[in-house]
Amino acid sequence: MSTADFTTDERSLRAGIVATARAMNAAGINRGRAGNVSARLVRDGVDSFLVTPTGFRYEAMGEADVVAVTRDGTPSGAHQPSSEWRFHRDIYAARPEIGAIVHTHAPFATTLACLDRGIPPFHYMVARAGGRDIRCAPYATFGTQALSDHAVRALDGRRACLLAHHGMIAAGASLEAALELAIEVEALAEMYWRALQVAEPTLLSDEEMATVIGKFRIYGQPQPPG
Ligand SMILES: [Zn+2]
Repeated sequence: MSTADFTTDERSLRAGIVATARAMNAAGINRGRAGNVSARLVRDGVDSFLVTPTGFRYEAMGEADVVAVTRDGTPSGAHQPSSEWRFHRDIYAARPEIGAIVHTHAPFATTLACLDRGIPPFHYMVARAGGRDIRCAPYATFGTQALSDHAVRALDGRRACLLAHHGMIAAGASLEAALELAIEVEALAEMYWRALQVAEPTLLSDEEMATVIGKFRIYGQPQPPG
C-alpha cells in the first residue's frame, strides 16, 4: 500500500479519531487523558496527519478539536497537538503502509514496559504485531525526539511496540486496525503477565513463529483463524 491509497476525507478521519479515542478508554486500554490517536491525511499528494489535541477529555472532544499537523510539525486549528506528535509524524514518515496510530498507557502493557520487558513469543498471536516478538523501546522523556527515534526503531518490521516506563504504540492501515491491534497487544500483555506469576513461560521457536507469520499473511489482516 502506498500513501496515495489513504483517504483524503478529512471529515470522516476526524470523526474516526474521536470515536477511536473514546473506544480505547471504553475498552479499558487507556484511562483519562493519557494516550493519543492519529490518522494520516493525504491531500493533493501532500502528506500530513490529524491527531488528538493535548490535555482534552475524550468525552468532551469534538471533530473540530482534532489538530492537523504538517510533515514539518506545524499545527493548525484551535488547539495544540498531543505532546507526542513527533512519534506520530516520524512513524508516518518511516512507514508508508501505516495509516493510523493508537498510543495508550494500557495497564498490562505498561506494567511490562515498566519492567523493561517486551512481549516474547510466548503465544502465537504475538505475530499479529508483524514479527516474532513485540519489542520494548528504551525510555526517553515524553514528547522528545529521542523517544520518537526509539519508537521508530522498536517498530522496525512491526506494527506495535511497548515504550519503557510509559505505555505502548499500535499502528495499522486504518484506525480500526490500529485500535484492534492495541486491544490485542494489551490482551497478550495480560496473558504474559499472568503466566509470569506462575513461572517464566516457555517460548515458541523462531521457526514456529515464522510459520504463523506466513499464515497471517495468507489469511490477511481481518481475523486470523483460531
Ligand atoms: Zn503517553
